[in-house]
Amino acid sequence: MKVNGLDTLINEWYEKHEAELDAYMKDIWAHPELGLNTKHAAEASLAFAKTHGFPDALICRAGEGLEENTENPNAVIAEFGSGKPVIGIVGELDALPGLGNKDVPGKDPIEGPGHGCGHNLIAGAAMGAACALKYAMEKEGIKGTLRLVETPGEEVGRGKALLAKDGVFSDMDMAIMWHPGSAPFSTEPQPGLCIIAGSFAFHGKTAHAAGAPWEGRSSLDAVQLMNMGVEFMREHITKDCIVHYQITNGGAAPNIVPDYASVKYFCRAANNEHVKDLYDRVVRCGEGAAHMTDTVFEPKLIFIIPYFYQNMPLHEYLNGIAQQIPDIEYTDEEYEFAKKLTENYTGKEAPAEKDKLIAPAKKDFCGMQEKSTCTDAADMSYFCPTAHIHGGGTALASPGHHWTITACSGTSIGFKAAVRAGKVLAEGALEAFGDQELIDKCWAYHKTLNIPSYDEVYNIPIEEE
Ligand SMILES: [Zn+2]
Ligand SMILES: [Zn+2]
Repeated sequence: MKVNGLDTLINEWYEKHEAELDAYMKDIWAHPELGLNTKHAAEASLAFAKTHGFPDALICRAGEGLEENTENPNAVIAEFGSGKPVIGIVGELDALPGLGNKDVPGKDPIEGPGHGCGHNLIAGAAMGAACALKYAMEKEGIKGTLRLVETPGEEVGRGKALLAKDGVFSDMDMAIMWHPGSAPFSTEPQPGLCIIAGSFAFHGKTAHAAGAPWEGRSSLDAVQLMNMGVEFMREHITKDCIVHYQITNGGAAPNIVPDYASVKYFCRAANNEHVKDLYDRVVRCGEGAAHMTDTVFEPKLIFIIPYFYQNMPLHEYLNGIAQQIPDIEYTDEEYEFAKKLTENYTGKEAPAEKDKLIAPAKKDFCGMQEKSTCTDAADMSYFCPTAHIHGGGTALASPGHHWTITACSGTSIGFKAAVRAGKVLAEGALEAFGDQELIDKCWAYHKTLNIPSYDEVYNIPIEEE
Protein backbone atom coordinates (compact mmCIF):
# COMPACT_ATOMS: atom_id res chain seq x y z
CA MET A 1 0.00 0.00 0.00
CA LYS A 2 1.13 3.51 -0.76
CA VAL A 3 0.42 6.94 0.70
CA ASN A 4 1.27 10.02 -1.39
CA GLY A 5 3.06 7.79 -3.89
CA LEU A 6 5.22 6.40 -1.09
CA ASP A 7 5.57 3.22 0.87
CA THR A 8 3.55 3.83 4.05
CA LEU A 9 6.59 3.49 6.28
CA ILE A 10 8.64 6.00 4.28
CA ASN A 11 5.71 8.38 4.43
CA GLU A 12 5.39 7.77 8.17
CA TRP A 13 9.09 8.49 8.76
CA TYR A 14 8.86 11.83 6.97
CA GLU A 15 5.69 12.79 8.81
CA LYS A 16 7.39 12.18 12.13
CA HIS A 17 10.83 13.62 11.41
CA GLU A 18 10.54 16.37 8.83
CA ALA A 19 11.02 19.15 11.40
CA GLU A 20 14.22 17.54 12.71
CA LEU A 21 15.48 17.10 9.17
CA ASP A 22 14.84 20.81 8.48
CA ALA A 23 16.83 21.68 11.62
CA TYR A 24 19.74 19.53 10.39
CA MET A 25 19.75 21.34 7.02
CA LYS A 26 19.54 24.72 8.76
CA ASP A 27 22.46 23.79 11.01
CA ILE A 28 24.70 22.99 8.01
CA TRP A 29 23.46 26.17 6.29
CA ALA A 30 24.36 28.24 9.36
CA HIS A 31 27.88 26.73 9.51
CA PRO A 32 29.04 26.87 5.89
CA GLU A 33 32.41 25.21 5.32
CA LEU A 34 34.65 25.08 2.27
CA GLY A 35 36.06 22.25 0.22
CA LEU A 36 37.43 19.39 2.24
CA ASN A 37 36.96 21.21 5.56
CA THR A 38 33.41 20.09 6.31
CA LYS A 39 33.96 19.10 9.94
CA HIS A 40 30.86 20.71 11.42
CA ALA A 41 28.62 19.31 8.68
CA ALA A 42 30.14 15.85 9.13
CA GLU A 43 29.58 15.99 12.89
CA ALA A 44 25.98 17.15 12.42
CA SER A 45 25.45 14.32 9.91
CA LEU A 46 26.93 11.75 12.28
CA ALA A 47 24.66 12.89 15.11
CA PHE A 48 21.55 12.79 12.91
CA ALA A 49 22.39 9.38 11.44
CA LYS A 50 23.10 7.89 14.88
CA THR A 51 19.81 9.18 16.29
CA HIS A 52 17.78 8.01 13.30
CA GLY A 53 18.72 4.39 12.83
CA PHE A 54 22.44 4.18 12.12
CA PRO A 55 24.13 3.71 15.52
CA ASP A 56 27.33 2.51 13.80
CA ALA A 57 27.63 5.41 11.33
CA LEU A 58 31.26 6.24 10.58
CA ILE A 59 32.76 9.73 10.65
CA CYS A 60 35.94 9.85 8.60
CA ARG A 61 38.18 11.90 6.32
CA ALA A 62 37.82 11.26 2.60
CA GLY A 63 40.91 9.69 1.06
CA GLU A 64 42.36 8.39 4.31
CA GLY A 65 40.82 4.93 4.31
CA LEU A 66 37.61 4.15 6.09
CA GLU A 67 39.02 4.78 9.54
CA GLU A 68 37.15 6.70 12.19
CA ASN A 69 38.49 10.27 12.33
CA THR A 70 37.06 12.55 14.99
CA GLU A 71 39.92 15.09 14.92
CA ASN A 72 39.56 16.34 11.37
CA PRO A 73 36.61 14.59 9.73
CA ASN A 74 34.80 15.70 6.58
CA ALA A 75 32.56 12.77 5.57
CA VAL A 76 30.03 10.33 7.00
CA ILE A 77 29.22 6.82 5.85
CA ALA A 78 26.29 4.88 7.30
CA GLU A 79 25.14 1.43 6.33
CA PHE A 80 22.20 -0.87 6.93
CA GLY A 81 21.54 -4.43 5.83
CA SER A 82 23.83 -6.85 4.05
CA GLY A 83 24.47 -8.53 0.74
CA LYS A 84 23.37 -7.54 -2.74
CA PRO A 85 22.20 -5.26 -4.15
CA VAL A 86 24.20 -2.37 -2.66
CA ILE A 87 22.39 0.92 -3.16
CA GLY A 88 24.14 4.20 -2.40
CA ILE A 89 22.36 7.40 -1.46
CA VAL A 90 24.74 10.30 -1.71
CA GLY A 91 24.79 13.78 -0.17
CA GLU A 92 27.17 16.76 -0.27
CA LEU A 93 28.30 19.01 2.55
CA ASP A 94 30.47 21.88 1.25
CA ALA A 95 29.72 25.57 0.64
CA LEU A 96 31.20 28.28 -1.61
CA PRO A 97 33.53 31.18 -0.74
CA GLY A 98 32.12 34.70 -0.42
CA LEU A 99 28.46 33.71 -0.82
CA GLY A 100 27.32 34.10 2.80
CA ASN A 101 23.87 35.72 2.96
CA LYS A 102 21.04 35.92 5.48
CA ASP A 103 17.87 33.88 4.90
CA VAL A 104 16.05 36.99 3.73
CA PRO A 105 14.66 37.94 0.29
CA GLY A 106 17.45 40.37 -0.54
CA LYS A 107 21.20 40.76 -0.64
CA ASP A 108 22.22 40.88 3.02
CA PRO A 109 25.70 39.35 3.15
CA ILE A 110 27.13 37.36 6.02
CA GLU A 111 30.90 37.60 5.69
CA GLY A 112 32.55 34.41 4.48
CA PRO A 113 31.27 31.29 2.75
CA GLY A 114 27.64 30.42 2.10
CA HIS A 115 25.51 27.63 0.68
CA GLY A 116 25.21 29.33 -2.72
CA CYS A 117 24.97 25.90 -4.38
CA GLY A 118 22.48 24.53 -1.82
CA HIS A 119 24.57 21.55 -0.69
CA ASN A 120 23.00 21.68 2.77
CA LEU A 121 19.80 20.62 0.97
CA ILE A 122 21.63 17.78 -0.82
CA ALA A 123 22.87 16.60 2.58
CA GLY A 124 19.29 16.70 3.89
CA ALA A 125 17.73 14.96 0.89
CA ALA A 126 20.21 12.09 1.21
CA MET A 127 20.01 11.92 5.00
CA GLY A 128 16.20 11.90 5.08
CA ALA A 129 16.05 9.33 2.29
CA ALA A 130 18.51 7.00 4.03
CA CYS A 131 16.83 7.25 7.45
CA ALA A 132 13.32 6.73 6.04
CA LEU A 133 14.54 3.85 3.90
CA LYS A 134 16.28 2.13 6.79
CA TYR A 135 13.09 2.45 8.84
CA ALA A 136 11.09 0.80 6.06
CA MET A 137 13.71 -1.87 5.24
CA GLU A 138 13.96 -2.99 8.83
CA LYS A 139 10.22 -3.24 9.37
CA GLU A 140 9.56 -4.92 6.05
CA GLY A 141 12.58 -7.25 6.23
CA ILE A 142 14.01 -6.06 2.92
CA LYS A 143 17.27 -7.65 1.77
CA GLY A 144 20.28 -5.78 0.46
CA THR A 145 22.68 -3.08 1.60
CA LEU A 146 21.80 0.58 1.93
CA ARG A 147 24.79 2.94 2.11
CA LEU A 148 24.48 6.63 2.90
CA VAL A 149 27.55 8.67 1.88
CA GLU A 150 27.76 12.34 2.88
CA THR A 151 30.63 13.77 0.84
CA PRO A 152 32.90 16.84 1.16
CA GLY A 153 34.68 18.93 -1.47
CA GLU A 154 32.31 18.82 -4.46
CA GLU A 155 33.12 22.43 -5.33
CA VAL A 156 36.83 21.65 -5.35
CA GLY A 157 36.27 18.54 -7.46
CA ARG A 158 37.91 16.19 -4.98
CA GLY A 159 35.45 14.75 -2.48
CA LYS A 160 34.05 11.81 -4.39
CA ALA A 161 37.39 11.05 -6.07
CA LEU A 162 38.95 10.67 -2.61
CA LEU A 163 36.08 8.50 -1.39
CA ALA A 164 36.36 6.44 -4.58
CA LYS A 165 39.99 5.79 -3.60
CA ASP A 166 38.68 4.53 -0.26
CA GLY A 167 36.51 2.04 -2.16
CA VAL A 168 33.19 3.53 -1.08
CA PHE A 169 31.58 3.13 -4.53
CA SER A 170 33.40 -0.01 -5.73
CA ASP A 171 30.74 -2.55 -4.72
CA MET A 172 27.66 -0.40 -5.39
CA ASP A 173 24.94 -1.50 -7.81
CA MET A 174 23.42 1.93 -7.95
CA ALA A 175 24.32 5.43 -6.72
CA ILE A 176 21.59 8.06 -6.58
CA MET A 177 21.48 11.66 -5.47
CA TRP A 178 19.72 14.99 -5.99
CA HIS A 179 21.07 18.52 -6.51
CA PRO A 180 18.83 21.62 -6.15
CA GLY A 181 18.80 24.37 -8.75
CA SER A 182 16.66 27.12 -10.21
CA ALA A 183 15.40 24.94 -13.07
CA PRO A 184 12.34 22.74 -12.37
CA PHE A 185 12.87 19.46 -10.52
CA SER A 186 13.70 16.86 -13.16
CA THR A 187 14.99 13.31 -13.46
CA GLU A 188 16.39 13.89 -16.95
CA PRO A 189 20.05 12.93 -17.37
CA GLN A 190 22.59 15.73 -17.89
CA PRO A 191 26.17 14.67 -18.61
CA GLY A 192 27.62 18.20 -18.30
CA LEU A 193 31.25 18.97 -19.07
CA CYS A 194 34.49 17.49 -17.74
CA ILE A 195 37.09 19.58 -15.93
CA ILE A 196 40.82 19.52 -15.51
CA ALA A 197 41.93 22.20 -13.07
CA GLY A 198 45.47 23.50 -12.71
CA SER A 199 47.28 25.77 -10.32
CA PHE A 200 50.20 27.49 -12.06
CA ALA A 201 53.01 29.34 -10.29
CA PHE A 202 55.85 31.39 -11.77
CA HIS A 203 59.09 32.02 -9.94
CA GLY A 204 61.07 35.13 -10.92
CA LYS A 205 63.49 37.53 -9.25
CA THR A 206 62.48 40.37 -7.01
CA ALA A 207 63.90 43.91 -7.34
CA HIS A 208 63.00 47.56 -6.71
CA ALA A 209 60.51 48.32 -9.48
CA ALA A 210 61.93 51.84 -10.03
CA GLY A 211 65.46 51.55 -8.63
CA ALA A 212 66.68 48.45 -10.48
CA PRO A 213 63.92 46.85 -12.55
CA TRP A 214 66.53 45.37 -14.90
CA GLU A 215 67.60 43.14 -12.03
CA GLY A 216 64.11 41.72 -11.65
CA ARG A 217 62.24 39.01 -13.54
CA SER A 218 58.51 39.51 -13.00
CA SER A 219 56.40 36.46 -12.28
CA LEU A 220 53.28 38.65 -12.63
CA ASP A 221 54.32 39.46 -16.22
CA ALA A 222 54.45 35.71 -16.79
CA VAL A 223 50.94 35.22 -15.38
CA GLN A 224 49.63 37.99 -17.62
CA LEU A 225 51.35 36.62 -20.71
CA MET A 226 50.04 33.14 -19.96
CA ASN A 227 46.50 34.52 -19.69
CA MET A 228 47.04 36.49 -22.90
CA GLY A 229 48.14 33.32 -24.66
CA VAL A 230 44.98 31.58 -23.50
CA GLU A 231 42.84 34.52 -24.62
CA PHE A 232 44.28 34.22 -28.14
CA MET A 233 43.82 30.46 -28.01
CA ARG A 234 40.06 30.87 -27.43
CA GLU A 235 39.46 31.47 -31.13
CA HIS A 236 40.99 28.09 -31.91
CA ILE A 237 39.22 25.75 -29.52
CA THR A 238 36.12 23.68 -30.20
CA LYS A 239 32.73 25.01 -29.10
CA ASP A 240 32.39 22.57 -26.20
CA CYS A 241 35.45 24.06 -24.46
CA ILE A 242 35.24 26.64 -21.69
CA VAL A 243 38.33 28.07 -19.97
CA HIS A 244 38.36 30.38 -16.97
CA TYR A 245 41.02 31.60 -14.60
CA GLN A 246 41.64 33.47 -11.40
CA ILE A 247 44.89 35.25 -10.49
CA THR A 248 45.55 33.78 -7.07
CA ASN A 249 48.70 35.77 -6.33
CA GLY A 250 49.73 38.93 -8.16
CA GLY A 251 52.61 40.07 -5.99
CA ALA A 252 52.75 42.27 -2.90
CA ALA A 253 53.08 45.89 -4.10
CA PRO A 254 53.45 47.79 -7.39
CA ASN A 255 56.94 48.97 -6.47
CA ILE A 256 58.31 45.46 -5.94
CA VAL A 257 58.98 43.25 -8.95
CA PRO A 258 57.22 40.07 -7.79
CA ASP A 259 59.32 36.93 -7.64
CA TYR A 260 56.17 34.86 -7.17
CA ALA A 261 52.77 35.00 -8.84
CA SER A 262 50.16 32.37 -9.55
CA VAL A 263 46.99 31.70 -11.47
CA LYS A 264 44.38 28.97 -11.25
CA TYR A 265 42.61 27.55 -14.31
CA PHE A 266 39.51 25.43 -14.85
CA CYS A 267 39.52 23.84 -18.32
CA ARG A 268 36.16 22.33 -19.34
CA ALA A 269 35.21 20.26 -22.36
CA ALA A 270 32.66 17.68 -23.45
CA ASN A 271 34.75 14.55 -23.04
CA ASN A 272 37.87 13.17 -21.38
CA GLU A 273 40.00 13.50 -24.54
CA HIS A 274 39.05 17.10 -25.36
CA VAL A 275 39.58 18.29 -21.83
CA LYS A 276 43.05 16.70 -21.64
CA ASP A 277 44.00 18.32 -24.93
CA LEU A 278 42.71 21.70 -23.76
CA TYR A 279 44.60 21.45 -20.48
CA ASP A 280 47.84 20.54 -22.26
CA ARG A 281 47.49 23.62 -24.49
CA VAL A 282 46.93 25.85 -21.46
CA VAL A 283 50.08 24.40 -19.88
CA ARG A 284 52.02 25.20 -23.07
CA CYS A 285 50.83 28.84 -22.83
CA GLY A 286 52.38 28.86 -19.36
CA GLU A 287 55.63 27.36 -20.62
CA GLY A 288 55.78 30.02 -23.34
CA ALA A 289 55.15 32.78 -20.82
CA ALA A 290 57.99 31.51 -18.64
CA HIS A 291 60.38 31.65 -21.63
CA MET A 292 59.29 35.19 -22.47
CA THR A 293 59.86 36.46 -18.95
CA ASP A 294 62.86 34.39 -17.93
CA THR A 295 60.95 32.90 -15.03
CA VAL A 296 60.45 29.32 -13.85
CA PHE A 297 57.06 27.70 -14.46
CA GLU A 298 55.57 25.30 -11.92
CA PRO A 299 52.34 23.64 -13.13
CA LYS A 300 50.20 21.52 -10.82
CA LEU A 301 47.18 19.54 -11.91
CA ILE A 302 44.89 19.89 -8.89
CA PHE A 303 41.75 18.00 -9.83
CA ILE A 304 39.84 16.19 -12.53
CA ILE A 305 36.13 15.77 -13.00
CA PRO A 306 35.87 13.13 -15.71
CA TYR A 307 33.04 12.53 -18.15
CA PHE A 308 29.79 11.65 -16.38
CA TYR A 309 28.32 8.46 -17.90
CA GLN A 310 24.54 8.76 -17.64
CA ASN A 311 22.42 5.67 -17.07
CA MET A 312 19.21 6.13 -19.05
CA PRO A 313 17.18 3.19 -17.61
CA LEU A 314 17.92 4.38 -14.08
CA HIS A 315 16.81 7.93 -14.91
CA GLU A 316 13.64 6.65 -16.60
CA TYR A 317 12.91 4.50 -13.57
CA LEU A 318 13.35 7.44 -11.16
CA ASN A 319 11.11 9.52 -13.40
CA GLY A 320 8.35 6.93 -12.94
CA ILE A 321 8.80 7.14 -9.15
CA ALA A 322 8.93 10.96 -9.09
CA GLN A 323 5.74 11.31 -11.14
CA GLN A 324 3.79 9.46 -8.42
CA ILE A 325 4.90 11.75 -5.61
CA PRO A 326 2.79 14.90 -5.21
CA ASP A 327 4.53 18.17 -6.05
CA ILE A 328 5.44 20.65 -3.32
CA GLU A 329 2.77 22.96 -2.03
CA TYR A 330 4.34 26.30 -1.29
CA THR A 331 2.50 28.84 0.86
CA ASP A 332 1.63 32.41 -0.12
CA GLU A 333 4.43 33.60 2.21
CA GLU A 334 6.95 31.42 0.38
CA TYR A 335 5.86 32.75 -3.01
CA GLU A 336 6.06 36.27 -1.58
CA PHE A 337 9.63 35.57 -0.45
CA ALA A 338 10.53 34.34 -3.95
CA LYS A 339 8.87 37.40 -5.49
CA LYS A 340 10.79 39.88 -3.33
CA LEU A 341 14.02 37.97 -3.86
CA THR A 342 13.49 37.99 -7.63
CA GLU A 343 12.79 41.73 -7.64
CA ASN A 344 15.78 42.50 -5.44
CA TYR A 345 18.06 40.44 -7.66
CA THR A 346 16.77 41.47 -11.10
CA GLY A 347 15.82 45.07 -10.27
CA LYS A 348 12.59 44.49 -12.22
CA GLU A 349 9.02 43.65 -11.30
CA ALA A 350 8.68 39.90 -10.78
CA PRO A 351 6.10 37.89 -12.74
CA ALA A 352 2.76 37.48 -10.99
CA GLU A 353 2.36 33.76 -11.83
CA LYS A 354 3.44 31.50 -9.00
CA ASP A 355 5.03 28.94 -11.31
CA LYS A 356 7.34 31.66 -12.66
CA LEU A 357 8.54 32.45 -9.14
CA ILE A 358 9.26 28.88 -8.01
CA ALA A 359 9.12 26.24 -10.73
CA PRO A 360 6.85 23.21 -10.28
CA ALA A 361 8.40 19.79 -10.93
CA LYS A 362 8.75 18.84 -14.59
CA LYS A 363 6.01 16.53 -15.82
CA ASP A 364 7.59 15.33 -19.05
CA PHE A 365 10.80 13.39 -19.58
CA CYS A 366 12.71 14.48 -22.69
CA GLY A 367 15.81 12.30 -22.51
CA MET A 368 19.39 13.56 -22.39
CA GLN A 369 19.81 17.26 -21.59
CA GLU A 370 22.73 19.59 -22.23
CA LYS A 371 24.50 21.35 -19.42
CA SER A 372 27.78 23.27 -19.20
CA THR A 373 28.49 22.85 -15.50
CA CYS A 374 29.66 19.62 -13.93
CA THR A 375 29.67 17.60 -10.74
CA ASP A 376 32.03 15.16 -9.10
CA ALA A 377 29.09 12.73 -9.02
CA ALA A 378 30.68 11.84 -12.39
CA ASP A 379 33.31 9.86 -10.50
CA MET A 380 30.67 7.43 -9.22
CA SER A 381 29.54 6.60 -12.75
CA TYR A 382 32.84 4.71 -13.34
CA PHE A 383 31.79 2.20 -10.69
CA CYS A 384 28.04 1.66 -11.05
CA PRO A 385 24.83 2.93 -12.65
CA THR A 386 24.54 6.48 -11.29
CA ALA A 387 21.76 9.06 -11.34
CA HIS A 388 22.11 12.72 -10.37
CA ILE A 389 18.59 14.15 -10.44
CA HIS A 390 18.26 17.87 -10.07
CA GLY A 391 16.39 21.14 -9.73
CA GLY A 392 14.02 22.96 -7.43
CA GLY A 393 14.53 24.45 -3.99
CA THR A 394 15.18 28.03 -5.04
CA ALA A 395 13.58 30.95 -6.89
CA LEU A 396 13.41 30.34 -10.63
CA ALA A 397 15.34 33.59 -11.26
CA SER A 398 18.39 32.49 -9.21
CA PRO A 399 21.54 32.02 -11.24
CA GLY A 400 23.86 29.26 -10.04
CA HIS A 401 26.50 29.90 -7.37
CA HIS A 402 24.72 32.97 -6.06
CA TRP A 403 23.55 34.69 -2.86
CA THR A 404 19.92 34.14 -3.92
CA ILE A 405 20.51 30.38 -3.60
CA THR A 406 22.18 30.87 -0.21
CA ALA A 407 19.06 32.77 0.91
CA CYS A 408 16.57 30.13 -0.31
CA SER A 409 18.67 27.21 0.98
CA GLY A 410 18.19 28.53 4.50
CA THR A 411 14.38 28.60 4.27
CA SER A 412 11.43 26.27 3.83
CA ILE A 413 11.61 26.91 0.06
CA GLY A 414 14.78 24.83 0.03
CA PHE A 415 13.85 22.40 2.81
CA LYS A 416 10.56 21.36 1.17
CA ALA A 417 12.40 20.61 -2.07
CA ALA A 418 14.97 18.51 -0.23
CA VAL A 419 12.20 16.56 1.49
CA ARG A 420 10.39 15.82 -1.77
CA ALA A 421 13.63 14.88 -3.55
CA GLY A 422 14.57 12.67 -0.59
CA LYS A 423 11.24 10.88 -0.92
CA VAL A 424 12.01 10.18 -4.60
CA LEU A 425 15.39 8.73 -3.63
CA ALA A 426 13.97 6.68 -0.74
CA GLU A 427 11.05 5.26 -2.68
CA GLY A 428 13.27 4.68 -5.73
CA ALA A 429 15.80 2.74 -3.69
CA LEU A 430 13.15 0.80 -1.75
CA GLU A 431 11.45 -0.50 -4.88
CA ALA A 432 14.84 -1.16 -6.53
CA PHE A 433 15.84 -3.45 -3.64
CA GLY A 434 13.01 -5.76 -4.65
CA ASP A 435 13.49 -5.46 -8.41
CA GLN A 436 16.46 -7.50 -9.61
CA GLU A 437 15.26 -7.05 -13.18
CA LEU A 438 15.74 -3.29 -12.87
CA ILE A 439 19.21 -3.69 -11.35
CA ASP A 440 20.16 -6.05 -14.22
CA LYS A 441 18.76 -3.64 -16.80
CA CYS A 442 20.75 -0.71 -15.40
CA TRP A 443 23.94 -2.81 -15.33
CA ALA A 444 23.35 -4.06 -18.87
CA TYR A 445 23.03 -0.45 -20.07
CA HIS A 446 26.10 0.55 -18.04
CA LYS A 447 28.11 -2.14 -19.85
CA THR A 448 27.10 -0.80 -23.27
CA LEU A 449 28.72 2.56 -22.45
CA ASN A 450 32.31 1.23 -22.78
CA ILE A 451 33.39 3.21 -19.76
CA PRO A 452 37.18 3.37 -19.41
CA SER A 453 38.63 2.14 -16.16
CA TYR A 454 38.83 4.72 -13.41
CA ASP A 455 42.60 4.18 -13.16
CA GLU A 456 42.96 4.96 -16.85
CA VAL A 457 41.09 8.26 -16.44
CA TYR A 458 43.11 9.17 -13.36
CA ASN A 459 46.38 8.18 -14.99
CA ILE A 460 47.61 11.77 -14.46
CA PRO A 461 49.32 12.78 -11.24
CA ILE A 462 47.16 15.04 -9.09
CA GLU A 463 49.01 17.29 -6.67
CA GLU A 464 47.73 18.94 -3.51
CA GLU A 465 47.61 22.72 -3.79
ZN1 LIG B 1 28.22 24.27 -7.27
ZN1 LIG C 1 26.56 22.03 -6.23
